[in-house]
Amino acid sequence: MQKTRLVSGVRPTGLLHIGHLEGMLKNTASLQDIYECYPFIADWHSLTDVTDTSNLPHYILQAAVDWLSAGIDPEKSTLFIQSHVSEHAELSTLLTMITPVSWLERCPTYKDKVQNLTQHLNQREGPSTGLLEYPVLMTSDVIVYKAELVPVGADNVAHLEVSREIVRRFNHIYGNVFPEPQPLLTKNAELPGLDGRKMSKSYGNTIQLSDSPETTRKNIMKMVTDPGRIRRNDPGNPDVCPVFAYHKVYNPDEVPQIDKECRSAAIGCVDCKRNLTDNLIAEMTPFYEKRAQWESKPKVVREVLAHGANRARRVAKDTMAEVRAAMNLV
Ligand code: SF4
Repeated sequence: MQKTRLVSGVRPTGLLHIGHLEGMLKNTASLQDIYECYPFIADWHSLTDVTDTSNLPHYILQAAVDWLSAGIDPEKSTLFIQSHVSEHAELSTLLTMITPVSWLERCPTYKDKVQNLTQHLNQREGPSTGLLEYPVLMTSDVIVYKAELVPVGADNVAHLEVSREIVRRFNHIYGNVFPEPQPLLTKNAELPGLDGRKMSKSYGNTIQLSDSPETTRKNIMKMVTDPGRIRRNDPGNPDVCPVFAYHKVYNPDEVPQIDKECRSAAIGCVDCKRNLTDNLIAEMTPFYEKRAQWESKPKVVREVLAHGANRARRVAKDTMAEVRAAMNLV
């Protein structure tokens, strides 16, 4: 019996960070025994943010190393690069013909990015067509495999809704070709950046997966804490401290004790961070070891990606034959 298909992608706009690992990579790896998984590296999607592509090949290879080190088994899952399966683009083009611009203009991510572009980059030309059409390509990424599930955190469920609308419209016009993709709610570890803001490459506040344990240790020791705790004897508020958010993920057993000791100033921030770092590095050590192995074999990683693209293409080609027939593009 064929397993339910699941698609999840990461954008190689830079080196992946610990938020990607906890939010996406590990989740997908944990699902590959239950579902037929298509983890991919969304290089076309990264072009909506990046115009200097000189580092893109490096970022793509590193993202593949991260997927594999997080436990993606190339025998069980189809790991590939988006642009190596051109059917994604063909289907996206066809879907744009039935997608009203107004659906895309109201997407929250589009609105946020447009605001950021105008605020920070002062781009007089305005946003690119690719940015507007991002949800269409994203829909194509999923339905070209007739995937039924997309793992998302609770705050991202709305992003899948436009894909579901596009699928409903296509099926209504051309017949029932695609299943409506459903969100698969995943545990979303809340890991803020080193400065307490959302972790993002553009803020320069990430803990990168390719960093050595020593670099990670140094970075955590520099992490901001409760801004109201100025002196060692001041009581702290762990609820507003990014370090505490990491304890919840990497040191859950000690969370009640740290909460108490922080509020009573029984523990200092330096000791609290040292404790976190020891636990985080211990938990991450198997990942670091696998990563060192995969990184030393770039040729094998490229073979995995080529094999994955071949497998993905076979499925995507069958879907496109069905789509062309449904649309009378024969
Ligand atoms: Fe944050 Fe720990 Fe300092 Fe409390 S003791 S403010 S939880 S780093």
